[in-house]
Amino acid sequence: MANIYDELFRYFGYKNFRNGQENIVNALIMGQDVLCIMPTGAGKSLCYQLPALMTDGITLVISPLIALMQDQVTALKEAGIKAAYLNSTLSPFQFKKALANAVSGMYKIIYVAPERLESQEFLLSAMQMNISMIAVDEAHCVSQWGHDFRPSYLRIRAFVSALKKRPTLAAFTATATENVRYDIETLLGLKAPLKTVTGFDRPNLFFAVERLNESEKNSALLFHLKENAGKSGIVYCSTRKKVDEVCALLIKEGFTAAAYHAGMSDEDRKRAQEDFIFDNRPIMVATNAFGMGIDKSNVSFVIHYNMPKDIESYYQEAGRAGRDGTKANCILLFSKKDITTNRFLIENGSDDRCLDTLEKAHERLNAMVDYCKYDGCLRQKLLNYFGEEHPGSCGACSSCLLPMHEEDITDTANTIMRAASSIGFRLNPPMLAALLKGSNSAKKYAYSNSPYFGALGSMGKDLIETYIDKLISSGYLKKEGRYDHLRPEMLPRDGKYIILMPDAIEPEERISHKLKKTVKKQHAQTDIDSELYSILAALRSKLAQKNKVPAYIIFSNASLEDMCIKKPTTPDEFLSVSGVGMEKQRRYAKYFLPVIAGYINGDDLSEFIDKQQKAPTD
Ligand code: ADP
Ligand code: MG
Ligand code: ZN
Repeated sequence: MANIYDELFRYFGYKNFRNGQENIVNALIMGQDVLCIMPTGAGKSLCYQLPALMTDGITLVISPLIALMQDQVTALKEAGIKAAYLNSTLSPFQFKKALANAVSGMYKIIYVAPERLESQEFLLSAMQMNISMIAVDEAHCVSQWGHDFRPSYLRIRAFVSALKKRPTLAAFTATATENVRYDIETLLGLKAPLKTVTGFDRPNLFFAVERLNESEKNSALLFHLKENAGKSGIVYCSTRKKVDEVCALLIKEGFTAAAYHAGMSDEDRKRAQEDFIFDNRPIMVATNAFGMGIDKSNVSFVIHYNMPKDIESYYQEAGRAGRDGTKANCILLFSKKDITTNRFLIENGSDDRCLDTLEKAHERLNAMVDYCKYDGCLRQKLLNYFGEEHPGSCGACSSCLLPMHEEDITDTANTIMRAASSIGFRLNPPMLAALLKGSNSAKKYAYSNSPYFGALGSMGKDLIETYIDKLISSGYLKKEGRYDHLRPEMLPRDGKYIILMPDAIEPEERISHKLKKTVKKQHAQTDIDSELYSILAALRSKLAQKNKVPAYIIFSNASLEDMCIKKPTTPDEFLSVSGVGMEKQRRYAKYFLPVIAGYINGDDLSEFIDKQQKAPTD
């Protein structure tokens, strides 16, 4: 049998497996079921695509979204692999033909939507095929605990048992919770699967939080977009109205952006998505309705204009950046108004008025808010939330790059802790701050009799709130229940409260400061010849237009970066570029080699430079 490394290199152009992939590939080749939980962008597709090529018979891939199937099939064809999808975009005639081709064994990998399994016609054809493996992508859709429950996923099990020979089953998801994992295993009927859960860290992602006033967000956003000029990215907003506003702002400022939300017609949404995928409109402004099934690998930034409702949503949305492993920025613009908005959405947005659900939603929101206010390593905070250890000081988050200093706040902290214990532990952070400040809102609640009323009256209210937040994030105070009532949780060992505070920055510097620093840092890390890169990117988009495929399917940004480093001038050298397999070498060496050679010779390549800066297509 062929060697898995040879095949990995031949078809996909990679020399090494990523974390977790090799064991899964081996298991599937041996016919063992697999349950694979890896974060977005980790490389789950390859885990079933490679074994599919190395075993007899057909691999059926169950995938929840049409866009996803088309993307994957296009990419496989580009790599010289016989693949097809059977879905509603085909005309009845095309469908019949594709199905007949499938039965005759013309395709190695076939993508179908789960609903298809319910069709008798499909089942009859499937029974005539030699299906050796079924890969269930986005397998969390089978679980009602997951966020994308799809009843048709429940039919998979019956479909499998209707086949004459039970194929190997492989399930893939990025959702890690126990409930979902259990549901996948039982509801799909996996048999003694190899379970692989890789870490959730995404080392190529830079995480930043900027604490702003709502009115500062527009200029912060524009600043970031300028810093990321020429790149593709997503701007998430919490409401449809905000999406429309922000998209209009960006267009007015000369950016090529598209909008996407559930209030638009199907047709408009489809167009927006295509414009984004084909880089005609490289910036997508969207609500959280956008993203599932978007495998665009060259998304270089995800900016959250608003804080999402929980860390699960945040990590998933931010995780759509940097799939190809190149450096990408995830920036969250946070203002206090985001807390109010989310509270309102929780209290009014769901039909499920069950107290327990509400309570949990508030708890998750609290964790999200804590993240936004956290001054320690953000990566550590995120990973800890998912139950994973991280040593901190990651060096690639806004906290790790911002200068900090230690502050001894023992006296103030003692006052805060004692005040929190007064009035029967019924104070939430704003009320506690109001009490300590001695402000009118505390009077209104008749707290003016408290010995702590105005105890920190000489201090600014914002600073009192910051100190309270610090005591919470250091674990001294704990928020409880739906109303965030505060309770002292522990005392410092030596009686001293020492906290980390960011160094003072001029207000007008606040937005740009972090970014200037971080952007510089990022560029230092990837020392890429940017002139050659933009020439190669222009060549890539030319070829993409000619072949009518998205640019990232021809080559990922990671491959272009590797070309800039290796500067190949022979077909053999071209093959050594990461992501260049045999088929891509055969198809594309003839275009890229002369351009790279020309660049080395100092030839005039303005033809490409012009191409990239061509006017947007609107
Ligand atoms: P997931 O489904 O886990 O979100 P994908 O399967 O879409 O991730 O893969 C993300 C990116 O990683 C793709 O661009 C893919 O080509 C790339 N990739 C996968 N495996 C490898 C590997 N072994 N080496 C380098 N890049 C890889
Ligand atoms: Mg995937
Ligand atoms: Zn960090």
